[in-house]
Amino acid sequence: MPRDPLPPVERGESFARRDFLKVSAALAATFPAPLRGAALPAPLQAATAFPQAPLVDGARLNAILDVFRRYGGTDDGGTTRLAYSDEDIAARAYATSVMESAGLQVSVDLAGNLIGRRPGADPAALPIIMGSHLDTVPEGGSYDGMVGCAAAFEVALTLHHHEVELGHPLEVVVFQNEEGGKTGSRALVGRVEPFEFDVVTASGFMIRDGINRLGGDAARLDEAQREPGSMAGFLELHIEQGAILETAGTQIGIVEGIVGIRRWYINVLGAQNHAGTTPMPQRRDALVATADLIRAVNEVATTTEGRQVATVGRIEAVPGAPNVVPGEVRATLEIRDLEMDKIGQIFAEIVAKAREIESARDVTIEFERFYESLAAPTAPAFRDILERAATDLGYSAVRMPSGAGHDAQSMAELGPVGMIFVPSRDGISHSPLEYTAPEDITRGANVLLHAVLALNAAG
Ligand SMILES: [Zn+2]
Repeated sequence: MPRDPLPPVERGESFARRDFLKVSAALAATFPAPLRGAALPAPLQAATAFPQAPLVDGARLNAILDVFRRYGGTDDGGTTRLAYSDEDIAARAYATSVMESAGLQVSVDLAGNLIGRRPGADPAALPIIMGSHLDTVPEGGSYDGMVGCAAAFEVALTLHHHEVELGHPLEVVVFQNEEGGKTGSRALVGRVEPFEFDVVTASGFMIRDGINRLGGDAARLDEAQREPGSMAGFLELHIEQGAILETAGTQIGIVEGIVGIRRWYINVLGAQNHAGTTPMPQRRDALVATADLIRAVNEVATTTEGRQVATVGRIEAVPGAPNVVPGEVRATLEIRDLEMDKIGQIFAEIVAKAREIESARDVTIEFERFYESLAAPTAPAFRDILERAATDLGYSAVRMPSGAGHDAQSMAELGPVGMIFVPSRDGISHSPLEYTAPEDITRGANVLLHAVLALNAAG
């Protein structure tokens, strides 16, 4: 399928808002028909369970999503739209045009996040924020991130076309560089460390240059930070990236939170010796002990009640020769759960097993923690609002944790957050095979819309 050529963008050039508008004009022909020109209101659809509230235009929503695939879309149905790349910038220009069609005032903040704003009737009310990301991993799918952005745009378009006035201001945020470490959302909570500016991202641009390329100002990044308590709430729609919804045949996931993560280096010390001359009873084989430990990790995580996951993801035997009994093994352990205390409990049980293995195999096993990411629970009141919205719309819904990180995790430091998941076919993500059915995306967007209306009504 021939693709529209992307407008040329000079590498290294700062990409200011006027450039977005220039590029947006060049991209006008790529707009799906409903957005062209004056953006006529979509016909009112009869909502059954919620007659007073509008529904999103599913055809328009999925058409917007189709357009995003043109920016970095690959022939196998996937997308490579790396943060700060020309494709990323062009997709953001298109996003700008869509948001302007929804009557939003579009700007780029100092962190390079793209933001559309709509004032509220109550000047004292805090903003309700929706958003997700448009960047992808290399050879990624065409749904991760962009489903949430397109849905947020569609919600804004629906409110605009139905002339729904909200008491609260509304913000739609396209966070920059989610896949490369949630740079955009972490900047809003002051979590970007100075060393990160020099990190070279998958697109080849350093984060510092990338921020400037998007129209932000890396030198003033700290000014992009927002105050805790400065928003009424944040809502993100995202594909599940797992198979829980599909397996259960459920349409909507109400996310209970983003799991916390702890990672440890494991060091198992035995005795290195000759593989031919050391009798079996005399061995202190570090690799055999590690095998016991790996099984124990799996057993503890599997048999303990809850939804925790534990993984030994890397292993290296030293010296690593066919004819040497391994004297040392270096491995990693990762545990994830919605509650940091649960992670601590699982780890303690694993350590207890490790002590047994130490005496049984005559080795020593050491754990050294090297990474922690705190769990970010969603607001219980938001879970209720989302569940109510799904139920009123006639959709099946289930509460579940998110095993993957999302921008909502950062936003949780600013105020209450809620997340909606829609099903991923076969649970596949970060792959060209990633797929979510259009009607599932539409359902998710309707829940998002109704949650915004409910939050607004809650005052
Ligand atoms: Zn994502």
